[in-house]
Amino acid sequence: MTLTPAQAYLKFFEGNERFISGALSHPRQDVEHRTEIAERQAPFAALFGCSDSRLSAEIIFDVGLGDLFVVRNAGQVLAETILGSLEYSVEVLKVPLIVILGHDDCGAIDATMQASAGELKTEGEFIQNLVSRIQPTVEAARLAGTGSIDEITDLHVKDTVSELLSRSTLIDSAVRSGKLAVVGATYQLALGKVTQLVTFGEIN
Ligand SMILES: [Zn+2]
Repeated sequence: MTLTPAQAYLKFFEGNERFISGALSHPRQDVEHRTEIAERQAPFAALFGCSDSRLSAEIIFDVGLGDLFVVRNAGQVLAETILGSLEYSVEVLKVPLIVILGHDDCGAIDATMQASAGELKTEGEFIQNLVSRIQPTVEAARLAGTGSIDEITDLHVKDTVSELLSRSTLIDSAVRSGKLAVVGATYQLALGKVTQLVTFGEIN
């Protein structure tokens, strides 16, 4: 059964509430469920988040096998392969919700801020590449007078949601037709709390 965007949103954030309070239910992680879903997946949401080891998707939303279609990289930086994965989740898997998740004290944002100040020391050419994709947000924040790492992270999440909708016609059309909602959110490492920052589509 496919959920509406509002139902999927509720399920997502109720799971996070359980995680925050420590009342985890660890749903759908048993052998029986594993066997049941082996032939077909029907996740209720897609998540694109930072790779940070503390941002474990199924744990922080207290969900189980087959629940989330997860895409992650350092600093949740959009790329064509990420767009393809998210389009797949919408077109083929019919997810009603995409959540884009950043978090406080993000290493990728920190590295980009260091790069902007000419202080980033790395020999990885692809680290440079990743950082350069976040750099426009850091520069815009600096011009607007907002400079803290967490403020920049929030802006980066919002920019990523906008970029997703402007680059993927398929995802933008799904939002316009009411089949999909896209939510940008941030996660507080110490509290385990996810806070919504921006939403496209109907979630109420
Ligand atoms: Zn991060």
